[in-house]
Amino acid sequence: CGIVGILGSLDVAPRLVDALKRLEYRGYDSAGIAALENGKLVRSRAEGKLRNLEARLASQPVGGSVGIGHTRWATHGGPSVINAHPHMVGRVAVVHNGIIENYLELRAEVSANGAVITSETDTEVVAHLVNAQLEKGLSPVDAVEVVLPRLHGAFALAFLFEGEEDLLIGARKGSPLAVGHGEGEMFLGSDAIALSPFTDRVTYLEEGDWAVLTRSGVTIRDSSNAVVSRPEAKSSVTA
Ligand code: GLU
Repeated sequence: CGIVGILGSLDVAPRLVDALKRLEYRGYDSAGIAALENGKLVRSRAEGKLRNLEARLASQPVGGSVGIGHTRWATHGGPSVINAHPHMVGRVAVVHNGIIENYLELRAEVSANGAVITSETDTEVVAHLVNAQLEKGLSPVDAVEVVLPRLHGAFALAFLFEGEEDLLIGARKGSPLAVGHGEGEMFLGSDAIALSPFTDRVTYLEEGDWAVLTRSGVTIRDSSNAVVSRPEAKSSVTA
């Protein structure tokens, strides 16, 4: 339902939660974040309101300055911690808005290849597919490029990779996603309101676009993987 991604220089967990609070207006049943703590993927998820996630984070803090966060409105699999995003497999964590329509077929495929499915969501299969490409030796960017065309439906995705402290990848197909430009920091958000605590400089991805973010900027490709230029706008939403 709501997505935020931060490639920052400050403690990321409170910033993710702050951004998710701005997205509460959309409604949600659970929430979670993942971050890179000393290069390792760490995660915290909770059912219900964001204060439950905050309570969890208070007792088990998540460190690092790079991360992704999500407020979930369940479509596939009931509201629960297990089904809450981010979904994590091996070296990748993903958050997802919308629906992967062919997830049953993809789930059968990854299961046949030995994947252990741990949630009831349509989202988890995306993490399995990307991680399988990483295991084959592909880079994160190449892995996402291979997997995106296999996903049918209307969705937005944000990816975080173990050991990659200067990388976030976002993709938009039928569900909005925006890139936020900061000072030596970059952001992803499902709308400008999510980005409002950090920046008012926003680039909206167009249909089929996917974006590779580093702290020095963003490279956006269209659905044919051609590098494209999308305008930067000044958001009128203020923090
Ligand atoms: N289809 C996904 C799920 O049920 C994402 C739902 C959403 O947009 O929050 O987990």
